[in-house]
Amino acid sequence: MSIPGTVWLSMWGAGEHPSDADFTAVADCEVIRGVEIWTEHPRAEWEIEKAAQHGLQVGIHLPFHDLNPVSDDPVVAERALQRNREWLRHLSRFGGVHAVLHGGYAASAADRDAKLPRLVEVTAQLNAEAGELGIALLLENLIPDTLGYSHIMASSLAEWATLVADAGCGAVLDTGHSAASGISLHDVFDTLGPSVRAIHLSDNDGTSDLHLLPGDGNDVTADLGGILAGIGYDGVITYEISPLRYSLDTIIARITADASG
Ligand SMILES: [Zn+2]
Repeated sequence: MSIPGTVWLSMWGAGEHPSDADFTAVADCEVIRGVEIWTEHPRAEWEIEKAAQHGLQVGIHLPFHDLNPVSDDPVVAERALQRNREWLRHLSRFGGVHAVLHGGYAASAADRDAKLPRLVEVTAQLNAEAGELGIALLLENLIPDTLGYSHIMASSLAEWATLVADAGCGAVLDTGHSAASGISLHDVFDTLGPSVRAIHLSDNDGTSDLHLLPGDGNDVTADLGGILAGIGYDGVITYEISPLRYSLDTIIARITADASG
């Protein structure tokens, strides 16, 4: 399965503590051109530097575990904005090209849309600052909270497209998230078109966010190659594969096989 675009790997696939040897293995495989670094990894700053040293293109996945940019707590909200800015500046020092923003999270869904304007404001602000640094800010599609308690933004195709348009940023499509949300890849590209500048590629069972290698689940990305070829896609394709299920060696071997298949 060869897919149009530039192949990247999320270094999450090597676990929480990627080593220098892991970066060497990625760079040496000659199919993977870039890596995305999770800023919540303990040595994320070192990882960004190491990727650049190995001649890999580099992007980041901005922090989302604790730092909610639309938190009701103004200290948390300010801290989230500040840390995102710091990460953008650090990335720019190593020639980084994109940063993925994980939207926002309202702790109550009772007034579910109340935080959307704040998220647009924060995203637009970060997008402008990223642009000045030569970095594309990309908003990722997420999976709705099926308990109905909280509002995870963006959790529908319409909401995601509106946020991207209102904030003026790009979009990163997570194929596992769209599949688990029941959103078809055709609908994503019909709605967002050229705003999709990067893709997080993984497979799952259509329900859970398993981050499997393509073809190891329900083959939720079966249509992707044809869609991307049809629109002349030349963006980034980042394999975002779970380190809980595969070794880095297996991931690299499969990516290499995909590229020649
Ligand atoms: Zn993702």
